[in-house]
Amino acid sequence: MAEEKNENKELRKNLFYEQKNGYDLIDREERLALERYCEGYMRFLDSCRTEREAVREGIRQAEEQGFVEFRPGMELHPGDKLYRSNRGKSLLLAVIGEKPLEHGCTVAAAHVDCPRLDLKQLPLYEDNGMAYLKTHYYGGIKKYQWLTIPLELHGTVALKSGKTVDVAIGREKNDPQLVITDLLPHLAAEQMQKKASELVKGESLNLLVGGVPYADEGKERVKLAVMSILNDSYGITEEDFLSAEFEAVPAMDVREVGLDRSFIGGYGHDDRVCAYAELRAIFDMEKPRTTAVCILADKEEIGSEGTSGMQSEAFELFMEELCAAQGASLRRCFANSLCISADVCNAFDPVWPEVSEKRNEAKCNYGMGICKYTGARGKSGSNDADAETVGKLRRFFDEAGVVWQMAELGKVDQGGGGTVAAYMARRNISTIDAGVPVLSMHAPWEVVAKFDCYMTYKGVKAVYEKN
Ligand code: MN
Ligand code: MN
Repeated sequence: MAEEKNENKELRKNLFYEQKNGYDLIDREERLALERYCEGYMRFLDSCRTEREAVREGIRQAEEQGFVEFRPGMELHPGDKLYRSNRGKSLLLAVIGEKPLEHGCTVAAAHVDCPRLDLKQLPLYEDNGMAYLKTHYYGGIKKYQWLTIPLELHGTVALKSGKTVDVAIGREKNDPQLVITDLLPHLAAEQMQKKASELVKGESLNLLVGGVPYADEGKERVKLAVMSILNDSYGITEEDFLSAEFEAVPAMDVREVGLDRSFIGGYGHDDRVCAYAELRAIFDMEKPRTTAVCILADKEEIGSEGTSGMQSEAFELFMEELCAAQGASLRRCFANSLCISADVCNAFDPVWPEVSEKRNEAKCNYGMGICKYTGARGKSGSNDADAETVGKLRRFFDEAGVVWQMAELGKVDQGGGGTVAAYMARRNISTIDAGVPVLSMHAPWEVVAKFDCYMTYKGVKAVYEKN
């Protein structure tokens, strides 16, 4: 007979906080809903390779859901669905609630810009019979990850005439793709001795774009041939690069990952996975108690600067014009608002456990990750949400059956980072970071667990509904 242990299971169950794998907490029906949700997300991610494309797709879907463009002076009623594009690079949506705006709104703020390689303003050159485009990387990348992978080129050219031309090369099945070459191992002995941070120089991130010379006897014949192709396809000249934004982005398709298909691999989960969750959540709002506001911001990866970044007063203008329709004070509205800074967090990676503190790191398939604080070196630069805001979320999520967990960005003093949370909090809005845990964040092909994507949608929806 087994020896009986003196163990008070009941007391442990009551007093200890225990986390469970999300799949042990949902039924078959919810599992189907999760799969359906992720199919939609995968299509969204596959078709949005830049912030402009995400904004365009967001507007297309919003209009399908009955959202109309918001203009100052419009009369507003509960249930009205509005959107505003900020220069085509960030998007603001709102569903007017029953409560007056003076009593605050519920904001969810994600970003749709992702780490990538931007073209320089004068990018095209020829060297030894090959043509290249020079890049300047955008956001925090490990440069070596961007060599020898297929890349696409997406961009917008602003012509002198005031017209713009959109370019997308590499997405269609028969399109050519671009690449940055690397040294062969046979000749890399010296290269391999270098520190990883010095392995690839910023100025060597040059895209191979051509090798056939123009049929004449002049100079720079390969460059001329490439420029001719661009001119034939898009009507642009070399000077037009000066007023263009081109982004080289990974060309890999969004795919299910794992033999059990429980993960999604793709470019730009950070932070389009939360942007999509927000869109789907606000599309579910018919007449919320509190006005629901959804932000798809730009420029988060470079500090939320610029007119389309979250530090821009474009947000104040939108909110002020909403408030004006009800004679409400913008500052009072902010003071009474709640913001979910919907951004991804780091997922604990068992292959690289040394940078994490297991107890406090978010895990794949354990649900939406709530990050009370981010920052570096003693929480510097962090919003550090107040306990009351976390308490409120606990209540909302419990009531709505949202599976969630706490998240922290690595061990103390291991590194750090930030989100738009600090900029929302500066506006006197109670703000907390929450989103999907990601593996290989900022890599060309990041990985998320389907379960966490779905729970983040449910989490944002719960906050919209219950606040
Ligand atoms: Mn992010
Ligand atoms: Mn990021």
